[in-house]
Amino acid sequence: MKPLLRKEILRLVVWMLLGSLLGYLVDRPILGAAAALLIVLGQHLWQLQRLVSWLQQPNKVPPEAARLWGEVFDGIYHYQRRQKADQQHLAGLLSRIQDSSQALRDGVVMIDHKGDLEWWNHAAERLLGLSSSTDRGQPLTYLLRHPQFVDYYDRQDYLEPLVLPSPVEEEHLLEYQITLFGKNERLLLVRDCTKMQHLERMRQDFIANVSHELRTPLTVLSGYLETFSDHAEQLPAQWQRGLVLMTQQSARMEHLVADLLTLSRLEANDFKVETTPINVAELLAAIRLDALALSGQQYQLLIDADPQLYLRGSANELRSAFSNLVFNAVKYTPQGSTIELRWYQDENGAYLEVDDNGQGIDGKHLAHLTQRFYRVDNSRSSQTGGTGLGLAIVKHILRHHQGRLEISSVVGQGSRFTCCFPLSQTLLDSAA
Ligand code: ADP
Repeated sequence: MKPLLRKEILRLVVWMLLGSLLGYLVDRPILGAAAALLIVLGQHLWQLQRLVSWLQQPNKVPPEAARLWGEVFDGIYHYQRRQKADQQHLAGLLSRIQDSSQALRDGVVMIDHKGDLEWWNHAAERLLGLSSSTDRGQPLTYLLRHPQFVDYYDRQDYLEPLVLPSPVEEEHLLEYQITLFGKNERLLLVRDCTKMQHLERMRQDFIANVSHELRTPLTVLSGYLETFSDHAEQLPAQWQRGLVLMTQQSARMEHLVADLLTLSRLEANDFKVETTPINVAELLAAIRLDALALSGQQYQLLIDADPQLYLRGSANELRSAFSNLVFNAVKYTPQGSTIELRWYQDENGAYLEVDDNGQGIDGKHLAHLTQRFYRVDNSRSSQTGGTGLGLAIVKHILRHHQGRLEISSVVGQGSRFTCCFPLSQTLLDSAA
């Protein structure tokens, strides 16, 4: 038992003894003890009343009291002071964080779990045209209504940022990046990327122009090489090997220029979303025939595709993306192997898988495969006639269709390339 409590009990006992002694003098010891008890109780009630009235005025110093009540008042007072100091510290911290966020050149917007605007900095006001007096508590997608933004916001897959024209100045481009935190709350970061995009556009235009300009001389060269090849037997023997090499290399360059032009076209169409329903099962059947023809029927190509499941998008682009994956499987798998193509959906999305049991790819390369010109083994890839642009093209096309590419592979066992699409991008036969 605590010493203070023991003292208090002792005091009560002394009071009761005194009370019963005084009562004994008038022949009423029990009444005397009860009167003493009442006095002690009255003292406690009075202190309790002082405590209540002090707590109702939190900024006042605590009342003076001795013993147990003195301890209670002091304890509460110290606790209050500690709480106040902590509160002040937290408020200071919060205001410093707010000040630093206000000073940021990038926009920061906090969105609550209901999707309503909670707080934003000056940059967000400037970039998005938000007004603190009218917009607080409004749903974010009510103020940023671009369909692509609404789609990005709803998808909850925020790995990649989204670039869109500014809602305030059409000629400016903004990059949006959302981060989830707390209980389904979101932090939206907004950056003016007009300059970066301008440079990027210059780079794209440059590549597109160079590729375009290279096409005509290449066609002339290939034309003449073809004519020479038709009359190869008339050429001296030492020139014939040169002719074969020149023909191979000019075909490779044509392939490269075609891929560069495809990439440029895809990049130029970054904001365009096509929504035509595509029958993927039929598309895969056509790609299978092309792959068999290309490989001289040397592979087993199996298809397991849901014929009811359609994908919204561009038939040409999707054909190009899926063909790239299937032709790669053929290129990097020994003849006679089996390649499986699957198209299905589950509750999270729709998937197109290309599975091969070929040479496989070391894990360290996987993250880089979709970079332009990245190749695992340059010597082998040039033998196969690859350009190193195929998977970059696939990545771009999937991005146009709100999808992404996942690659898993085990060296010596094979690879799986999966195109993942959100369910919003699919529809079932009857709807199509
Ligand atoms: P490439 O034109 O060289 O095939 P891609 O961009 O299509 O270029 O592929 C990049 C690299 O990824 C290839 O050079 C190859 O090394 C590797 N790769 C792609 N698909 C496969 C596969 N199915 N199996 C093994 N390696 C692959």
